[in-house]
Amino acid sequence: METTGIKPLLIVLALMVATAWAASRVGEPELASAIGVTRALPRQVGRFSGHEVLYCAEADCAEAYGADKFDDPSTAVCPLCGGDLDTMAPIERKLLPEGTEVVRAFYRDSQGSSFFVSLVIGGRDRMSLHRPENCLPGQGLSIRNSRVLETPLAGGGQLHTRLLDVRRQVGGSDAAVFSHFTYWYIAPGRETPSQWWLYAWMAADRLIHSRMDRWAYIAVAHDYNPLHEDESLEKMRAFLAGLRPLIIKPW
Ligand SMILES: [Zn+2]
Repeated sequence: METTGIKPLLIVLALMVATAWAASRVGEPELASAIGVTRALPRQVGRFSGHEVLYCAEADCAEAYGADKFDDPSTAVCPLCGGDLDTMAPIERKLLPEGTEVVRAFYRDSQGSSFFVSLVIGGRDRMSLHRPENCLPGQGLSIRNSRVLETPLAGGGQLHTRLLDVRRQVGGSDAAVFSHFTYWYIAPGRETPSQWWLYAWMAADRLIHSRMDRWAYIAVAHDYNPLHEDESLEKMRAFLAGLRPLIIKPW
């Protein structure tokens, strides 16, 4: 599902207008309690060991730590400033709508390969789940290409995720780091790499069924050598094929 072209936009706009009209007549629909994913990320994905990422909740500090640094992460405080630890950065806690849940984990294998995973579970406000295309450039990253990545799944079928080729300059030098950043959205019984489909489903659910699903956003990123891009994509596919069955709930 490509996002180019005006037709998907018009369909979503029409659904949004219809939703606003319907909401004014029937009131706000109930937010579904079911979510399509686990609330935590797995400790192990294949040969990759993971640990959760925690942030200092003090905005002036906002230091990030691997949870493996602490004996008991649930009672630990920031070693730098003594602030509480949180699963989301202070700026996210401030800006993301109430009810949004965020967990992140860093995975590494013995050969030095690594993956960074973000899981965001949206609340009532659809702004909980924003397009990474909108926020990555603000973090000093440039998006060089965008396409759909197809990953064969063990049980048959394909997982479709949106794949961004991302580049970031290293601190004032000419050197650059290249990353593959891929993401998709999950609700109970539904998966899509397209934000247009996400919004269309949200709008249709509100309009037709007077309900709101709690959608989740999953992003997986890793750095790669541009001379070996195909190898990087194969590693990404293997990681996604291992991660998906561990986080998705049967429906
Ligand atoms: Zn701190």
